[in-house]
Amino acid sequence: MTDRRLLILDDDPQIGQTIQFIAEGVSLESIATQEPEEFFRLLTDWQPTHIALDLVMPQMDGVEVIAELAQRQCKAQIIITSGVGSRILDAAGRSAAEHGLNIIGVLSKPFSPSTLRTMLTSTETIKPAVHLPSALSRFKATIPELEEAIANQQLVMAYQPKIECATGKLSGFEALVRWDHPQHGIIMPDNFVPFAEENGLISGLTDAVLEQSLRWFTSFQRDREVGLSLGNAAVDMSAITLSINLSARSLHETELADRMARVCQHTGIDTRQVIFEVTETSAMEDPVISLDLLTRLRMKGFNLSIDDFGTGFSSMIQLVRLPFSEIKVDKSFVMNAMESKESRTVISSIVDLGQSLGLKVTAEGVENSNTLEFLMEQGCDLAQGYHIARPMWGENIVAWIKDRSA
Ligand code: C2E
Ligand code: MG
Ligand code: MG
Repeated sequence: MTDRRLLILDDDPQIGQTIQFIAEGVSLESIATQEPEEFFRLLTDWQPTHIALDLVMPQMDGVEVIAELAQRQCKAQIIITSGVGSRILDAAGRSAAEHGLNIIGVLSKPFSPSTLRTMLTSTETIKPAVHLPSALSRFKATIPELEEAIANQQLVMAYQPKIECATGKLSGFEALVRWDHPQHGIIMPDNFVPFAEENGLISGLTDAVLEQSLRWFTSFQRDREVGLSLGNAAVDMSAITLSINLSARSLHETELADRMARVCQHTGIDTRQVIFEVTETSAMEDPVISLDLLTRLRMKGFNLSIDDFGTGFSSMIQLVRLPFSEIKVDKSFVMNAMESKESRTVISSIVDLGQSLGLKVTAEGVENSNTLEFLMEQGCDLAQGYHIARPMWGENIVAWIKDRSA
């Protein structure tokens, strides 16, 4: 397999062939299909790095295909083609980009080969398509199955590093849960965390997550001493943080703060190194209850972060009232910061807001060096994203640190 693969979906075989011909000229391997079903099969099996998509087709419209690609978190570079008017095409392109897809261009038919050629070659980074196999995106857990997963340690944690924008120094990790399913393999949290919330299983899930990630964090801290003695991983250990996501439902469990503090005590972790992340909407749902629980957590020494900031319906007053120590700028703004002036404006306003409230600001979803540079210029404190590192299994973290400091 070459590392550049173009998958074409177009109901007109001649156009498919023309695009293939142009793609070959710029050394892209390509496959053209007229069937959406075949298209999605190839998406999973063949992992294209590029996609050319006709917006108007008889069996399925391109907008549905776009929604499905977004749902699968497709990372391929996408070109939208069609014979419809350019305003509709532009709107479709914007909508797809807002879904988090990488749109490299919209082409109205008939198009000139050179325009297409430019689009296919002008991409600065080429990432393979990352999406869940189709079986997984349809995966539905059952209550007993998830109960068993929680009880029998099928929940496993991935850790994603956070760094200081200004210095590049490691600042901490976010713990992200996955389900290692005996039949289906690794399942991502969006496919089972909401289900756990709806079915009264979230408190068990949170406990499992906390216990596992704190256990890893303790051993990591010891491992780090090994790194230090080797003299090649200059990181200040006591300043390293571990972020854990808390579900909205958990904000109603009054004894949560005590429970969390007890687990820290057992594992010998300083609560000040632990950051609980709650989403903006969940924190604002019931500000009175939230204030109560969040204050207790703060009193135990934990730090609190407001996650996905910018997407919910927050009021400034509530943000000031609730005892947060960090704001996390939602990745939807950060991921397209380089393409969207609006996103850059949102980011710099949030950074200003955080600074004036004395909060640390983390940008998540940093996917390239230009964005990191932009964040640094804005005075954003911390950055997290695929450009720095993807979420990794615990056993790979020490190697990653050594690699970076080598
Ligand atoms: P979140 O807390 O906002 O976590 C960030 C998500 O963005 C993670 O997805 C992470 O893998 C992804 N991400 C990080 N950097 C980048 C980037 O540069 N580009 C892109 N496209 N994505 C990036 P993940 O692991 O699938 O988690 C999804 C959500 O599931 C989390 O969003 C969080 O709300 C929830 N979640 C994860 N673990 C837990 C948990 O232990 N408990 C609870 N209650 N929720 C969790
Ligand atoms: Mg989070
Ligand atoms: Mg987030």
